[in-house]
Amino acid sequence: MKKAAPTIDRRRFLAGAGMFSGLFGVGSVLKYSTQFFLLSRAPTEAPEPRKEWQGSTVQSYRPLGKTGWKMSDISMGTSGTSDPYVVHMALDRGVNYIDTSPDYSDSLSEKTVGEGIKGRRDKVFLVSKFCSPSGHLDKDTPVPEIIEAVEGSLKRLQTDYLDLCHVHACNTIDRLMAPTFHEAFDRLKEQGKVRFMGVSTHTPELEAVCNHAIDSGRFDVMMVAYNFKNWPDLSNIISRAHEKGVGFVAMKTLKGAYHTVLKDFEPDERNSFTQAAFKWVNNDPKVSGLVVSMGKPNQIDEYLYASGKKADPADLALLERYDRLVTKEYCRPGCGECLDSCPYDVPVDDIMRYSMYFQAYGRERDAMIKYSKLPRERTAEACLGCNAPCEAACRFEVPIREKLVKAHSLLKLPA
Ligand code: SF4
Ligand code: SF4
Repeated sequence: MKKAAPTIDRRRFLAGAGMFSGLFGVGSVLKYSTQFFLLSRAPTEAPEPRKEWQGSTVQSYRPLGKTGWKMSDISMGTSGTSDPYVVHMALDRGVNYIDTSPDYSDSLSEKTVGEGIKGRRDKVFLVSKFCSPSGHLDKDTPVPEIIEAVEGSLKRLQTDYLDLCHVHACNTIDRLMAPTFHEAFDRLKEQGKVRFMGVSTHTPELEAVCNHAIDSGRFDVMMVAYNFKNWPDLSNIISRAHEKGVGFVAMKTLKGAYHTVLKDFEPDERNSFTQAAFKWVNNDPKVSGLVVSMGKPNQIDEYLYASGKKADPADLALLERYDRLVTKEYCRPGCGECLDSCPYDVPVDDIMRYSMYFQAYGRERDAMIKYSKLPRERTAEACLGCNAPCEAACRFEVPIREKLVKAHSLLKLPA
């Protein structure tokens, strides 16, 4: 199975070139590819891998709510995964929970996972979303279409069942409890095609959505943006989920992984950053585990070295330092306090998140496609001539206008 892994950036670009040429034309692809290579410097990967990381394996498995599964404390996200060998390698190293979605890389992620788990389906808790390759399903989507979308995931994943299917990017209680998703889930469950239902969220309504999901008794797992010095404080939600047997899976654990900040760290500090962040999340035994995008073999080595370990004072000092440096950079998932002050109804938090996907996660295509779906009048183009009343509403003093203007120049499709 093992083969030489070409660099992910090259493969990702090649995989995406077809779609980009469709969207932008070949000339545009060539022009923008330079920009992608410059910006995707993989800040989520140590520049100087340590020898002791080689061959690292999962050291701890934790109960995933009442599902009966014990998940690897550091598990596989696949938003940037396009090589089945990397999936295969993660399983070899003890990862037993894989999160994917039809809209990651225009379904390439699901296809890759399907190839990677071939012959080992029973060794992995397989998670996808109520979603299609072209984007999130609206809550009013007819039930047969939702079922068809999940069946599309099963086909790409080469399996006849999902262990878990999330209501994806759930931003309101209406969406969380949409009768369409619940009916589709019940039918799929009856047919043995989906075992458990979950919710993924990083919305301004995060606390309300999480609390309602716990109280409703309908959800088995929640996947939530959660990182050191999280705001808002989710400890109460984590405790309540634990008491009710709802698995709590953390995502976006690197708090943006800002390369602008990390590049100023000493190599040794920078090498420790991802592991310190993971250890901090898993310090709470009520957290079932975390998912992080694994796209390269050396990321698996690096990330799994933190498995089963507790954050120590040096880790905490490093995270404090990073936190101080990013405080005015980082738009907090679950905040949204500035949204009502924008006269143009610009979705500040979503655009900041797309910008993070582009700059920190190497998900340039996904970020641009997501941004392209906003109505033009709600894009950050509106910020160009605005005096930014939103900024007075941000307690973290994020320079919203400046960041959104930059995001617009990165994310807008070429004319
Ligand atoms: S920019 Fe500030 S106020 Fe607006 S959502 Fe982000 S953190 Fe909250
Ligand atoms: S700068 Fe103006 S247009 Fe842009 S988000 Fe702030 S208030 Fe809205």
